Amino acid sequence: MKKNVVILGSTGSIGKQALEVIGWHRGSLRVFGLAAYRNIELLEEQVRAFDVPYAAVGEEAAAKVLQERLKDVRTTCLVGEAGLLELVRHPEADLVLVAVSGTAGLRPTLEAISQRKPVALANKETLVAGGSLVMKAALANGVPVIPVDSEHSAIHQCLNNENRNDVAKLIITGSGGPFREASFEELQKVTPEAALRHPTWQMGTKITIDSATLMNKGLEVIEARWLFEVDYDRIEVIIHPQSIVHSLVAYKDGAVLAQLGWPDMRVPIQYALFYPERRSNNLKQLDLASVRSLTFEKPDLKRFPCLRLAYEAGKIGGTMPAVMNAANEIAVFSFLKGEIPFMSISAVIAECMELHIPQTGEPDLDGILAADRWSREQAKKVIKDRHGG
Ligand code: NDP
Ligand code: MG
Repeated sequence: MKKNVVILGSTGSIGKQALEVIGWHRGSLRVFGLAAYRNIELLEEQVRAFDVPYAAVGEEAAAKVLQERLKDVRTTCLVGEAGLLELVRHPEADLVLVAVSGTAGLRPTLEAISQRKPVALANKETLVAGGSLVMKAALANGVPVIPVDSEHSAIHQCLNNENRNDVAKLIITGSGGPFREASFEELQKVTPEAALRHPTWQMGTKITIDSATLMNKGLEVIEARWLFEVDYDRIEVIIHPQSIVHSLVAYKDGAVLAQLGWPDMRVPIQYALFYPERRSNNLKQLDLASVRSLTFEKPDLKRFPCLRLAYEAGKIGGTMPAVMNAANEIAVFSFLKGEIPFMSISAVIAECMELHIPQTGEPDLDGILAADRWSREQAKKVIKDRHGG
């Protein structure tokens, strides 16, 4: 029996690579549903190439155009968030890969879990905003949430069902982004073009900017806290410019396990699609002699305050991570539009966090979404009033 896979965000960087991986394993995986926001050209191509029964897009008008273009095939087109939810709850869907960007992944992830569908989760913002809700639902429904993010995939592999009480700490590696060696003055003059040139990974625009500010590592710390139930004092970030060691787990007896490989998202994507099995593929094996040296250094929280803000938000908990995440999203897109300088991204987030009175404890979905909306509005206001946007 083939596994029916639904991909939310199929036209993005992760979505495209996931389809490539599925293409290698057509005997065991079938693409059951695809969702994108507005790129209907690519979505149509994907639907035809994989003979996909269901496709969803963000808006009514786009869905009409897509349906018209696909009238010679039997594909049903769905629309908006309701479309995403319908796709994930379809009785024939076996596994949902959540690879949309931003908070759009939260509700569909919860829906998949409530329908007892295993989730392969690339969308880290879902766990940052709603980690407690998502993991509680996963536990209650006995549904696995398998990480796609390379660091968390590495930790998942190194944990390998070991007793959680034996873990001393999780060590998340990060390349340090394109400005690892930039001075404070240079960081103030960074352009969107320069920030979009990542040294080791090819990714979507939002996450590429997050990598340049180190917010990506901050989001990953919070993501790890929820996925692996380890508190913030035992999650460390280390800069590793070669991106070969994808993350590590230190055990209480002094043993440290790491997962290594070329920086290639197709490996963690395939791992998540087949877990707990491993499958062969034609990817090039890691050749350590050609890498020659692996280096590590501490992150500089003064030049990269986003990482510090993420730890702070995580430790405060409640709605604060959702606020931080939403303010970051607004600030990143404002930077990309040339409205604010690079260093204002962290300043905007810090201001929104300061203004927020967090709902502590475990907020429900409405509480999280309200905090997310509040923060977006607040961030826009802060940008307009104080950062020249
Ligand atoms: P991209 O920006 O490349 O792609 C985003 C995808 O989501 C596109 O298919 C887009 O559609 C779709 N999308 C966005 N909003 C909606 C919505 N409301 N409804 C339906 N579809 C939507 O992002 P990435 O692939 O880089 O990243 C996706 C997620 O995975 C992010 O959360 C990121 O943090 C995470 N991740 C990514 C990694 C990477 O290497 N790229 C590594 C680790 C994690 P359209 O094209 O039509 O706009
Ligand atoms: Mg990552």
